Amino acid sequence: MSFNNLQLIEPVLKALSEEGYTTPTPIQEQAIPSILQHKDLLGCAQTGTGKTAAFAIPILQLMHQEQQASQQGRRAIKALILTPTRELAIQIEESFKAYGKYLDLKHLVIYGGVSQYSQVASLRRGIDILVATPGRLLDLMQQRHISLQDIKYFVLDEADRMLDMGFVQDVRRIIAKLPARRQTLFFSATMPPEIQQLANILLSNPVKVEVTPPASTVDLIQQSMYYVEKMNKRSLLIHLLRDTTIETALVFTRTKHGADKITKDLSRAGIRAEAIHGNKSQNSRQSALQNFKSRKTRILVATDIAARGIDIDDLTHVINYDLPNIPETYVHRIGRTGRAGASGIAISFCDYEEKMFLRDIQKLIAKAIPVAKDHPFDVPLMHGTPYQPATQQSSSSNNNNARRSPGGGKRYGRSFAQRA
Ligand code: AMP
Repeated sequence: MSFNNLQLIEPVLKALSEEGYTTPTPIQEQAIPSILQHKDLLGCAQTGTGKTAAFAIPILQLMHQEQQASQQGRRAIKALILTPTRELAIQIEESFKAYGKYLDLKHLVIYGGVSQYSQVASLRRGIDILVATPGRLLDLMQQRHISLQDIKYFVLDEADRMLDMGFVQDVRRIIAKLPARRQTLFFSATMPPEIQQLANILLSNPVKVEVTPPASTVDLIQQSMYYVEKMNKRSLLIHLLRDTTIETALVFTRTKHGADKITKDLSRAGIRAEAIHGNKSQNSRQSALQNFKSRKTRILVATDIAARGIDIDDLTHVINYDLPNIPETYVHRIGRTGRAGASGIAISFCDYEEKMFLRDIQKLIAKAIPVAKDHPFDVPLMHGTPYQPATQQSSSSNNNNARRSPGGGKRYGRSFAQRA
């Protein structure tokens, strides 16, 4: 399958070819034809699958065709893409820019934490495609700088993350202002009940597309597990990063405070690192990301929310300084490396308290992560019972939607890896 088989118009094909895209990813192959036929879409997919292009390409094409057919006067916002984080919003707008470079469609990205002045000025000049985070969008709607009355295409991106970040009420308020006649594309990596309910409200007779990057991504990535005492994690990290073959590494921590602390420790050890998390200003997040992408900074330390959707080409290593309590998060994290078919390396630290998280992760990915024993901080006592793949679903595994929380509570969610 090539993009030439997807009934795409010449200016889009040319832009894709300049981006170096030759073959559509599975989600693109499945979603693009349906979207071009004006169907609603429910996409179970996360970043790394090519989902941005899966909605951006057909939206650009449909809007271009409508523009050609009508003698357009004033520009009005006809496509709205709502996404939870500033980083994602920026990346989505960059994608529209890249794929639409030979079209006459204007796009804008708006997000909070920065002055609204230049955003409002761009809105006044007229735009066709708006990429937004919920808070700033509502704010500018309330100030009457934005009207959604002409929206024909609505994309809700990372719906489950909207829920996690407490944006669902904002999203509902935005949805209430959308015209009833529109095409809606809904993306979520997981489908907890509240998200399913939102999808039911928003979508009409949707085509369902489900892609399973976890299995394929996980298989491409060389994973290893380092058993280590909590107090030795920092020394182990520094020990590993002394290896200069690690060109770039994204280090994940559970907390913002942890991210800051590790960054300081690394810097003290002479390893250039920057942190990115929700307490950092928009400017410092962008500059940390830019420095990392341009390889000025070798190590980026991030929390899950800040890192979700960050798209870094050629990221060679992901290091889980803390193991996540939600097994799907492990898959999301290590999926930052090994993108678009490239291989990558994922290193994880596991202390005593995290062993139950490890068990859940291995169950989800259905394999044992090889244990690295040859390091100065190994804890031989922890090399316990190896993971045994389940031969059949036992009744106790019926509860496999339940996720552990550090406090011992449960979190509900269901990944498409489990459904696949
Ligand atoms: P996304 O899942 O939208 O975050 O995309 C993940 C990465 O894959 C981005 O860096 C895209 O530029 C890249 N990508 C998307 N579609 C393709 C494709 N068909 N061929 C090569 N790379 C792609």
